[in-house]
Amino acid sequence: FKPIDYPKPDGVISFDRLTNVAFSFTNHEESQPCHLKLKDPTVPIRVNLPDYAEPAQRYCPAGVYEVVEDEAGPRFQINFQNCVHCKTCDIKDPSQNINWTTPQGGDGPNYPNM
Ligand code: SF4
Repeated sequence: FKPIDYPKPDGVISFDRLTNVAFSFTNHEESQPCHLKLKDPTVPIRVNLPDYAEPAQRYCPAGVYEVVEDEAGPRFQINFQNCVHCKTCDIKDPSQNINWTTPQGGDGPNYPNM
């Protein structure tokens, strides 16, 4: 395929991903268990990364999923605090390996300006 060259956000009418996440005022207490459960924690790096360049890094609108390179090799990181509860990952993961569960009561996006 031919990659689409999207214009960079201008900060006036379009914004980068994490700025848009900030508009949701989402919040999850950091000490709670991660509400995004992997059925098999090895699948993101063992299967999804070589086969699909781990698409969770791109389809999650909140940038929750990252593949981090460290000395031991690539590692799958879940920044669950940023989750905006869209449940895309529960549906779109090519290995059907992510299960969105309900987080601690009251936590999540807030959208106070809507
Ligand atoms: S539910 Fe949506 S925002 Fe939360 S991790 Fe999944 S894709 Fe990202």
